[in-house]
Amino acid sequence: MLRNDQLDQWDRDNFFHPSTHLAQHARGESPSRVIKTASGVFIEDRDGNKLLDAFAGLYCVNVGYGRQEIAEAIAEQARELAYYHSYVGHGTEASITLAKMILDRAPDHMSKVYFGLGGSDANETNVKLVWYYNNILGRPQKKKIISRWRGYHGSGLVTGSLTGLELFHKKFDLPIEQVIHTTAPYYYRREDLNQTEAEFVAQCAADLENLIAREGADTIGAFIGEPMLGTGGIVPPPAGYWEAIQDVLNKHDILLIADEVVTGFGRLGTMFGSEHYGIKPDIITIAKGLTSAYAPLSGSIVSDKVWSVLEQGTDENGPIGHGWTYSAHPIGAAAGVANLKLLDDLSLVSNAGTVGAYLNATMREALADHQNVGDVRGDGMICAVEFVRDKDSRVFFDATDKIGPQISAKLLEQDKIIARAMPQGDILGFAPPFCLTKSEADQVVAGTVRAVKAVLG
Ligand code: PMP
Repeated sequence: MLRNDQLDQWDRDNFFHPSTHLAQHARGESPSRVIKTASGVFIEDRDGNKLLDAFAGLYCVNVGYGRQEIAEAIAEQARELAYYHSYVGHGTEASITLAKMILDRAPDHMSKVYFGLGGSDANETNVKLVWYYNNILGRPQKKKIISRWRGYHGSGLVTGSLTGLELFHKKFDLPIEQVIHTTAPYYYRREDLNQTEAEFVAQCAADLENLIAREGADTIGAFIGEPMLGTGGIVPPPAGYWEAIQDVLNKHDILLIADEVVTGFGRLGTMFGSEHYGIKPDIITIAKGLTSAYAPLSGSIVSDKVWSVLEQGTDENGPIGHGWTYSAHPIGAAAGVANLKLLDDLSLVSNAGTVGAYLNATMREALADHQNVGDVRGDGMICAVEFVRDKDSRVFFDATDKIGPQISAKLLEQDKIIARAMPQGDILGFAPPFCLTKSEADQVVAGTVRAVKAVLG
């Protein structure tokens, strides 16, 4: 086994970490966090510290860590057939079974699943499918994609453009010109504090209408949105939002992509966020919860409406010119099958609903009176606390104060609990594995209260 100092040196010298302050890390100013093992909701680092992971990795280890059923399924698949491709009609029992299991759980009007590896490449596929679709329909101008400010859809060229967070654009020459952004459905951060929720929703719909009018409806191919904003702040949609948005999209024949990378497979206490919020998507993006991150796998679920056009396209043009070497990788597919079975066998989706509701309610109650807690919000097994300098006038802290990161660091230091300081704003996010118990939820809330007091008084 490597000594810790050796590991730290190798890490600094060789490893290009994603989403990391590269210079600080290389200089050794931020710690190398080496995780060794995990079980249930706890992870353990190289020094034997046991940490309660209240963010399930990157809200992805939904069934919890250390599930032997999934590990066994992966091992068995690797022994029997580690790889074969899925081009020209090839497949494996695992990938075919998984596609059927996904469709059995997805909204009725969905038709087929294309498999990728992660959320970013799945959304990349989705954008290409929208372009292919409109080319087949003889509408070559109808290509722009509307996303929302504060949406998160990945960090590739197209998907980093879809992501509506400045950090993901700055110095990368993004967004690309085919991607445009509209208002974030973030009522707490509305500009006019006197606006009611209904007025705010009407404004979101009007902003979308105006954007479409400005660009021309014949140039807009699709709208993409997470059922609930995730990385952009963990913000459930205001009441009536999705109904209002879908009315606009339907009027202008614009496809709707529901990015369910976070909400798919149970995080909101229902199998999909689309059913939860009354969304009827044309394409659904899935990743994270599909395998609970035991192996990389994502998917694009396409509706009957989209599929029928794609089929027509290949009748006219030959095989679809789109595919990855690792599409429907058998090991990922085996992990997915075992993961979805586990969700059912242990009733984990309903646990996410009930314990998640408990976590949200106790968090709200515990922090309601704190002068620097502006908002506590969430749904199912996902929750956020937003900090402000002044609650009544809703004055935010300066970004340079780094209040969110300070509180998450304190929570880790004092109570060994991991919550995520979300990238834009002073927002602490919680998205634990679905197997969280009520007493673990109590621990998370009590630790959060202590951390908030330690940083803000
Ligand atoms: N969509 C959403 C809603 C996400 O939250 C994420 C990842 N956080 C992605 C897409 C991108 O997924 P990946 O990091 O696997 O590429």
